Amino acid sequence: MPPQAFLADLRRGRRINVLRRIVQASFTLFCLYSGYRFTLFYLWASGRSETFVSRPPSVEAFLPIGALVNLKRLLLTGQFDPIHPAGLTIFMAALLIALTLRKGFCGWICPVGFASNLAEAAGRKLKLLLTPPAWLDRLLLAPKYLLLLFFCYLILLRMDLAAIETFNSTTYNLVVDAKMLYFFLAPSTLTLWILIALAVLSFFLRNFWCRTLCPYGALLGLLALASPLRVRREEKNCISCSKCDRVCPGAIRVSVKASVLSPECIGCGECVSICPAKECLTLNAPGRRKLPLPALPAAVLTFFFLFYGWALFTGHWHSQVPLEVLQKAYATDLETLQHP
Ligand code: SF4
Ligand code: SF4
Ligand code: SF4
Repeated sequence: MPPQAFLADLRRGRRINVLRRIVQASFTLFCLYSGYRFTLFYLWASGRSETFVSRPPSVEAFLPIGALVNLKRLLLTGQFDPIHPAGLTIFMAALLIALTLRKGFCGWICPVGFASNLAEAAGRKLKLLLTPPAWLDRLLLAPKYLLLLFFCYLILLRMDLAAIETFNSTTYNLVVDAKMLYFFLAPSTLTLWILIALAVLSFFLRNFWCRTLCPYGALLGLLALASPLRVRREEKNCISCSKCDRVCPGAIRVSVKASVLSPECIGCGECVSICPAKECLTLNAPGRRKLPLPALPAAVLTFFFLFYGWALFTGHWHSQVPLEVLQKAYATDLETLQHP
């Protein structure tokens, strides 16, 4: 398809799924590249390679629990985390995106969400995707909220400032990104079986990891309830084809709603894009003002890169930990290093 025709389709609210896959794939490739560079950095810092490669700060995106701890520290002290500042920046960007643009971080940026969406799409193509009864589907949503509750209780209620400072100064906190790398590069047999089980379940249950287990997504979903943007359905124009229900990664029954206000909505726009009825599903700002569908990803990406630019120019992107300190910390046996 010529690019002009694709852009014209996008303006009409069509083909948002193609745009989404391109954006998600770009972030995923960037994350894989960062992971590769971080592996090289780790090999150098732990004395297993002579070749120095600078540490990519973006790997800290995978440390949301530490970021929550340090968001609390920021609110209590006004001080930004000097150890994993990029992690805190990305976390804050995701929270702000959720508050204003639904779970746009999940729908457009997160590589784990992308993998989950791909497994779902493959499951649908292979006719493996199941539709659990409503009661079971609701039950499947619960674990992520329980995990979120657990982390909020531990971090927001139980950890005072002294406990946060103690945690931040541990070797564990310094090497937590390398520990995560080790978790995936040298998984235990149990880890491997859990990963296989999660992957297999993702072919049968829509967006399984995100909808059932991810506490980060649960937090973003709750914040997104405050978002002023939402998908609305004009009932008189609906032809009840259920196409919107079938494509929704959040398994929301869009076809029976006047307005989608669900913590499962990731702002992907796929329901709007696929709806065959004229003026039926639309993306709306407050006051029922209709917005062009591509405005949502454009705003999500703008917010995200504004945060990145701000962090870069204010010195809140690169870790302040000296390389010699990291080298010493990475000499620790990661396998035996336990959470303090
Ligand atoms: S729910 Fe979690 S894993 Fe899924 S896209 Fe959102 S943040 Fe990523
Ligand atoms: S309701 Fe629409 S925008 Fe929200 S997750 Fe479902 S398909 Fe995407
Ligand atoms: S895709 Fe559009 S017309 Fe079809 S059920 Fe959904 S809202 Fe109605």
